[in-house]
Order: sequence, then C-alpha cells, then structure tokens
Amino acid sequence: MSENRVVQGRMVTRKSLAELIEGESVMDAEPIEDADRDCPECGGDVLEVGYMPSVTAFVTGWKCQECDWAETDRE
Ligand SMILES: [Zn+2]
Repeated sequence: MSENRVVQGRMVTRKSLAELIEGESVMDAEPIEDADRDCPECGGDVLEVGYMPSVTAFVTGWKCQECDWAETDRE
C-alpha cells in the first residue's frame, strides 16, 4: 500500500508534505491522514500530518490538496 498522496498535482510522501507545510526540512513525520475539514480557500480536500520540525517540537499541519492553503497548530 502506497501512502503517497497527490497535492496540487504532485506526489508527496509524509515527509515532503510536512516540508511543504513547514517551508523547510523536518526531522520526522507521521503517516498522512485525511483531515475532517475542507479548505477554507477553495473547499478542496485537506490532508493532515503530524511532524517534528526539530527534536523538541511536534506540530500538526494541514494542507489543501488543490491550492496553496496550509495551516499548523503552532501558536
Ligand atoms: Zn484549497
């Protein structure tokens, strides 16, 4: 079973999806899940991924599969 998903026409892995959201490299990422929400910009499907931008941090990120919208739970 492939866990790769398509975001804006490109295949992403859990790590490359996290890096899209973060805007830079991340240390580790959890499996991609389908978020229970729609994109506020375009109504598209949203993916959710938990990742570690550094050893001491854990962030949950969301990314629209159709447009540039992304968000994290970082305060
Ligand atoms: Zn969108």
